[in-house]
This record gives sequence, structure tokens and C-alpha cells, in this order.
Amino acid sequence: MRVLIVEDEPRILADLRRALEAANYVVSTASEGEDGWYRGDSEDFDLVILDLGLPKIDGLTVLKRWRAAGRTMPVLILTARDEWREKVDGIDAGADDYLTKPFRIEELLARVRALVRRSAGFASPVLVNGPLEIDTRNMAVAYRGHPVPVTALEYRLLAYLMHQPGRVVSQSEIAQHIYEEDLERDSNAVEVIVARLRRKLSGPVIETRRGQGYLIPAGLAD
Ligand code: CA
Repeated sequence: MRVLIVEDEPRILADLRRALEAANYVVSTASEGEDGWYRGDSEDFDLVILDLGLPKIDGLTVLKRWRAAGRTMPVLILTARDEWREKVDGIDAGADDYLTKPFRIEELLARVRALVRRSAGFASPVLVNGPLEIDTRNMAVAYRGHPVPVTALEYRLLAYLMHQPGRVVSQSEIAQHIYEEDLERDSNAVEVIVARLRRKLSGPVIETRRGQGYLIPAGLAD
């Protein structure tokens, strides 16, 4: 899952980046509104954390522009304490949730998990598809009731497909959502990770559509 953080306070930005990376998200950042708007407009994110008080273009304007352009990714806004009007304006402008500064990082992570899963149509933090289960709170994978140890990259790939059952996802899209942006994105490596996951999950879970990509079918058989 790929997250964009738009925040101008360096310390909050660094704390958010560290916490989200530790929770296995791929993180991109912007420290002012113009860059943040551009990245959210031109790149594909699974979630955006958007501070409202930003240099160059304020967060509310950034959000309104994205929504006016049809960008539908979930957006969590960060607001100053006691600024109830900011929250109302933010939600009316298309924010999906808000958090008031200062906040506990655990609460932020819980809200991030909830927004990502709700936008994918899941109500519970444990995503279940037939015999396959992933617990997004602790990155645990189980298949037919048995825990399956997975690496960080394997988890990211599995979680990305698991959030959108039945949809064929191209190798390059997968690469974009599981690799840090500074690293060379090698879509061949996606094949290697899929092969490793198939060995670990001793049943048909990830299907290949030749020339198109991979999918986890909706309603896997037990
Ligand atoms: Ca700010």
C-alpha cells in the first residue's frame, strides 16, 4: 500500500514516515501544498495524509482540487486543535477522516488501516478470502488456519492484491505499490515474489493472466 504524506512540520513528517514504514507501507512525502497537490494528482496512492496548514497551497484547496479532478483516494486530514470549522470544511471538501494534532501514532495507524480497508470494501482489519486471511494490524498471514511466515515485500504484494479481489493488476502497478520510490522498480522481481508466495501458500491463490498481470479471485475456494 502506497501512502502520500503532505506535511510541512519536519518532525511530524519524519515521525509519520517512520511509523508508516515500520507498518510496511510504501511512503512518499511532500512538504508543501503545491508539490503535494501535484503528486496526488499525477500518481496513484492508496491513501493520503494531508495537513491543512501548508505553505504555497493550503490543504483544503489541495483536497478540493483533487476531488474536482475526480481523484477518489482516501484522504485523512490533520487539523489544529480546537479548529472545529477546519474539520467540517475538510470533510465537506471530501476528506474521509480527520485527526487533531497532537495525536498518538497508534491512533493514526488504526485510522489509516480502517480507511484503506473501507475503500476496498472490507469492514474488519482481518481480511478474509476463503482459506486465506491477512491481519492488517500485525501483518500476519494464515492459510487454511495455519500461519504463513512472509517477508515484508511478500506481505505488501499479498495485501495489495487481497484488498482488490477479482481485479487483474499489472506487474508495473504492483511494483509501484510495493517498492520504495527511490529504488529501481523491477517488475521482473514481482514474478519472483509471486513464485515465492505460491510456494508458501500451498493452494491456488494468486492467478496469472498472461500479458495482463495477477489477481486473487473473489471468493477463493477452501
Ligand atoms: Ca502545517
